[in-house]
Parts: sequence; C-alpha cells; structure tokens
Amino acid sequence: AIYAPSRVNSRGWDLANRADLNEFLESRGAFAEHQWQAAPILAVEAGSGTAPREVFSPAQTDRQVGTVTDAGESEAKAAIAAARVWDATVAERAAALTRAADLFEANHGEIFALLAREAGKCAPDAIAELREAVDFLRYYAAEALAAPASSPRGIITCISPWNFPLAIFTGQIAAALAMGNAVLAKPAEQSPLIAHLGTRLLHEAGVPVSALQLLPGPGRVIGAVLTSDPAIAGTCFTGSTATAQTINRAMAEGCAPDAMLIAETGGLNAMIVDSTALPEQAVRDIVASAFQSAGQRCSALRMLYVQRDIAESLKEMLFGAMDALTLGDPWWLANDVGPVIDHQAREKIVGHIETARREGRLLKQLDAPETGWFVGPAAIAVNGIEDLAEEIFGPVLHVATFEASEIDTLVERINARGYGLTFGLQTRIDSRVDEITARVHAGNMYVNRNQIGAVVGAQPFGGEGLSGTGPKAGGPRYLPRFAAAEGMQLDL
Ligand code: GLU
Repeated sequence: AIYAPSRVNSRGWDLANRADLNEFLESRGAFAEHQWQAAPILAVEAGSGTAPREVFSPAQTDRQVGTVTDAGESEAKAAIAAARVWDATVAERAAALTRAADLFEANHGEIFALLAREAGKCAPDAIAELREAVDFLRYYAAEALAAPASSPRGIITCISPWNFPLAIFTGQIAAALAMGNAVLAKPAEQSPLIAHLGTRLLHEAGVPVSALQLLPGPGRVIGAVLTSDPAIAGTCFTGSTATAQTINRAMAEGCAPDAMLIAETGGLNAMIVDSTALPEQAVRDIVASAFQSAGQRCSALRMLYVQRDIAESLKEMLFGAMDALTLGDPWWLANDVGPVIDHQAREKIVGHIETARREGRLLKQLDAPETGWFVGPAAIAVNGIEDLAEEIFGPVLHVATFEASEIDTLVERINARGYGLTFGLQTRIDSRVDEITARVHAGNMYVNRNQIGAVVGAQPFGGEGLSGTGPKAGGPRYLPRFAAAEGMQLDL
C-alpha cells in the first residue's frame, strides 16, 4: 500500500526574517547566563554516580555552562535491571513523541542557548539541529503508526555523538521508542547537558522513565556495560569506526546472537569538481561542506579533487571565499565558524595541519581566536585520498588535482579506501553524473550542491563499508530494524 504520512518537516527559524530573528534572539537571550545541571535519570534508586564535574564552553574555555554527575558502572547495571519495554499502544507512543516534538519547539530558546554554549554551534547549525530533532520525532511517530503490528526487540542502548548532541541523540531514541523498546541513552561525554534537557522534555511528553533512562558518562566505563550485557537486544551507535568495531565485538561476546547493531561511523568523503562545473557554485558548496560546523560532521568534505584545467582559478576563488569566513563565539550571529569540541580534538587537528605546514603542503589557513578551542580552517595539498591516514574531524580540506583522463580511476581510488558515507560531484555533463554516481560507493551522493545536512524523510542518511551498517536514519528502512524479528528462529 502506498502510504503518505500526514507529516511535514519543521519550518524552523529563518534568520533573514525579522520576526524569526527577533524571536530567536529574545528566546535565547533569556538563557545567556544560565547554568545547567545534568545527572543520570534512572527508573530506580542507584548510587549517587561519580563526583560532579564542571562543563565549560568550547568557545570560551573559562565560561562554565553547567555541571554534570556522570553515571558509573553500578548505575548502568541498575538501569538495565530497571528497564521496561514501553507498555502502550502505538497510537499512544506516537502521540507522546509528537508531543515531545512540540515541546522541543516550544523550548527553542533554551535549546538554542545550550547548543551554542555546550556544543559550540553557530546559529544556522543550532536551528538546523533543532529542526532535525523535531523532524525525527514526528517522522518516526508517523512511520510507526503506518507500520505493520510488531513487538519491540527489548532493551536498546543508544550511544550518540557530541556533534549532533540533540538531533542524533533524539533520532536514535525516537526510533527505538516508536517501536516500543526500552532505551538506555548514553550521550557523548562532551554534551550531557543538552541530552539531559532532551530527555526531560521526552519524559514531560509522556515517555515513562522505565522506557527511557539517561546515562551520561564515559564510554569506556559505562559504554562497555551497556553493550555487552545479555539483556541488551540492540545497540544504536553513531561515532567512530573504531568504537563501532569495539561495540560489535562486545555485543558478539555478551549479547544474544540476534541482538542488532546499527552503526553510523566515519568517512573520507570526497568531491570531484570537473572543468565544466560552475565555479561560483562549486566554491560555495566546498566551503559549506568542508567548514560549516567547523568540519565536525561525519558527512563533511575531506578530499577535494579539482580538474587540472580549472584548478588554479578555482583555488584562488576558494581561498578568497575562506578569507570571508569569520571565526568566533557561536553566540554571535556574525560568526560563521565556531570552535572544535575540546582540547583533545584541537590538538589532533592542529597537529595534522602543522605536519602539512612543515612539509610545505599547507596551502591556506585562517587565523583563529585564542579564547576557545578554535582551529583556523585550512586547505592542504595532497596527491590524493591515499595520503589521508585517517578521518580528521575538523575544518581541514585536502586538495588534489586530476587530469581529464584520470576521472575513472579517481572513483576506484575513492572506493578503495573502504569508506562510503557522502560523495559530491560538480559537473554540467549529465552523462558523467550517471556514470560516476553509479560507480561510487557512498550512502549519500550530492550533485551540484553541498554534501552535508541530509533532511529527515527526504534524504535518508547513512553509509556503507567502513562508514556504517545501514539502514539509513530518517528513511523508511530504519524503523523496522527496531522490531523483534518474529518467527526468526536461530538454530544454533
Ligand atoms: N546527518 C548529518 C549530515 O547530513 C551528519 C551526521 C553526522 O555527522 O553524524 O550532515
């Protein structure tokens, strides 16, 4: 049957619209000096967690944003024992998730403030993030209502990243809950405050605490417990490929043989720009893909291939466009690029750029403010994707040129790295679009546009190979994975 859900994506806030802009600034302004608190939210009395730790803004490292009490091993075990699948009809669950979407939107000021303060998100990113979280809630609610009747799998561990501390956090949880599972949510260590706010709003909307417990804390302490206990029916993870492999091993050893794992991991995402591309568009899309969100998206462009004939002029335009970027505190609308998430991230990215500088391969780098964990967006010359030892999760673009005769081998070289998340192509030759997109291994391909910001319901997001297991988030195949595989007998 053809099913058209009665759902539209969130309208969001258009900062070019005066009324939206005023609402954005006023609602967020009320939380400018707010201090947030986060702690485990459990369906049972447990230990008091670890000693509280202070949370500082990545944009102003002397600005405290709040305090978090992390969960430890005993809280994780208590949460597993107290978890209960959500005993409600699918209509009741969908209604609660839809109510949560409304509550997220109603609390936009606090959410925008927290995304800027705790996660270093510039205004357009904060707005897009709230929209995505809301869209996930409404989308999975609508999909669950339309799905054939099923039973939940059981207890699902959701391990989410700091780069989308509300959107991905909420997306994983919403999918698991829509199908009636019990969720143990483990947010990234760097973003417990926003996770705590999101969880509170979900509970306020009617999700029982026994179906959604929050366990902030370090992955190596509680992540291990939450992914290896025999009671865990599945794990939903977004983060590095290496951590996904650790989780896969832990689950294989500890959990039932039919426990499911959805992992959305890293990438070495490429874009090919041929000599027929429209340069103004290519440059705008390269800048957005590589430097928006300070390059801290798994979808971000890492490896740019430009056809030799246009390489010099395109690079000149690109470096000019980079000069127009402003770096600074994401609280201020004038700033395009915020900080990277923490000291450790900054060290790694800066180390990579400094190596290139020493080797004479640094083509361009912007200055960065000293007030926080800022990294000046950089462009580095390489021979090709083989020179990238690993994913560098920051505002660093690698650039290589190619000759017209090499275009076919480029695709093979990109595929040979084994990742497959996003891919960009800029060309005005239609047959080339068909030929190349048919051969590239990537979950999400974008032609003549930027390669970030997949939209829930319209552009399901996820990779293949080392980039993830699928099914894609925000697409029709995601939700069924959270239902029990009824009738499936494992004859072991
Ligand atoms: N869905 C995001 C995008 O399309 C990226 C998600 C991630 O970075 O994990 O840009």
